[in-house]
Amino acid sequence: MMDRCFGTRRVRQIQRAMRHGTVTFMCLFLTVVVLRGTIGAGKFGTPEQDFNEIRDHFSRGRRVEPHRVLEEAQPESESSHSNNYATFDISKILKDEGGGDEKRDPNKPYSLGPKIADWDEQRAEWLRKNPNFRNFIGPNKPRVLLVTGSSPKPCENPVGDHYLLKSIKNKLDYCRVHGIEIFYNMALLDAEMAGFWAKLPLIRKLLLSHPEVEFLWWMDSDAMFTDMVFEVPWERYKDHNLVMHGWNEMVYDQKNWIGLNTGSFLLRNCQWSLDILDAWAPMGPKGKIRDEAGKVLTRELKDRPVFEADDQSAMVYILATQRDKWGEKVYLENAYYLHGYWGILVDRYEEMIENYHPGLGDHRWPLVTHFVGCKPCGKFGDYPVERCLKQMDRAYNFGDNQILQIYGFTHKSLGSRRVKRVRNETANPLEVKDELGLLHPAFKAVKTSSS
Ligand code: UDP
Ligand code: MN
Repeated sequence: MMDRCFGTRRVRQIQRAMRHGTVTFMCLFLTVVVLRGTIGAGKFGTPEQDFNEIRDHFSRGRRVEPHRVLEEAQPESESSHSNNYATFDISKILKDEGGGDEKRDPNKPYSLGPKIADWDEQRAEWLRKNPNFRNFIGPNKPRVLLVTGSSPKPCENPVGDHYLLKSIKNKLDYCRVHGIEIFYNMALLDAEMAGFWAKLPLIRKLLLSHPEVEFLWWMDSDAMFTDMVFEVPWERYKDHNLVMHGWNEMVYDQKNWIGLNTGSFLLRNCQWSLDILDAWAPMGPKGKIRDEAGKVLTRELKDRPVFEADDQSAMVYILATQRDKWGEKVYLENAYYLHGYWGILVDRYEEMIENYHPGLGDHRWPLVTHFVGCKPCGKFGDYPVERCLKQMDRAYNFGDNQILQIYGFTHKSLGSRRVKRVRNETANPLEVKDELGLLHPAFKAVKTSSS
């Protein structure tokens, strides 16, 4: 009885399914007819063309996904039939729409944006209304956004992008371990502020868009963390708004253009910072302004070579000439390497490993190694390419060893991409402790939201 009942229901189900099937099939058929009639007429209209397409496709080798439509949408001249990435000319697909950039009135002084005078009030109000986005994520632990970036275009040499990748991977590691957020910029927000000036409009935009961020940490793409343990002494800067590596005497007394470095610095999110950005920017616009300003900087600053105005010289100039205005809130740090010039560090890595340990941040174990002048993404640098690239690899591995250590590995040597085990595998993985304490740093246990 049950069997039979079940049987007839099944039969009815099948009949219904077949009716649905017929309708579905009709729909599909009609769709195909309509589509072929409308878009298919030109290129894949006739069976012969279809056949040629298919033959062409198979004769070109075993490609898994036939991206037919995409290829055919392109004009003949642009469709490359090569599947060789190594010889493909990337400039074919990189288009810069010409024009469009609204030209600024050259008689008006350059400005980063509308004047804002009450940012501290605006921000305080926002923070009050948004208590879940606190600007401090712990006692003496400000919310920090590390900002770095590179040109929108691929590097001008074949390995440059590989070093950019290593450099951002290195920063990701440091920031993950230290609870810092990261922003990687590849957009030129203001065409006039290309090159080393690009950071200014970007920094302003990020400060204004992220009131929850207390400190913005700019770091060049050619700088790498070499101490994954060292935590910035935030408490030391509680009364300061701009922290750069440098020396008071060299900046204020000698006006030396290398008295500070702008490749790695901290900027507090406040009105004062918007103001100094405004004071910093006017030498930036490329062309006549930047060239003329370069002459002033070379004339006024110690040991500066002849070249267009750069952000670092401009900062030295501002501080040296307007110390009263800015000096009080600027901290020139040299007790550890917020920026460390690579030339004096890279040949000592082995010696550091021999004698010291991560967490010191200074000459014994530098927080940052910055490859000033190497221009790893460009065509020409100020130093021999081989030394730059070799030492960048060593700096990367030096930092990476501290990350790999967590997982029981290390690079075979500072010059080696290959790694080796430093711990045996165990059936009780949770009993293994990482010597540097990077896996579960204390602050990570602290809840960052008030839920
Ligand atoms: N940069 C950028 N966009 C560009 C060119 C440069 O964001 O189109 C950034 C990049 O992070 C780079 C920094 O500006 O590291 C400063 O340039 P560089 O490091 O080459 O100067 P150096 O430290 O050698 O004086
Ligand atoms: Mn740099």
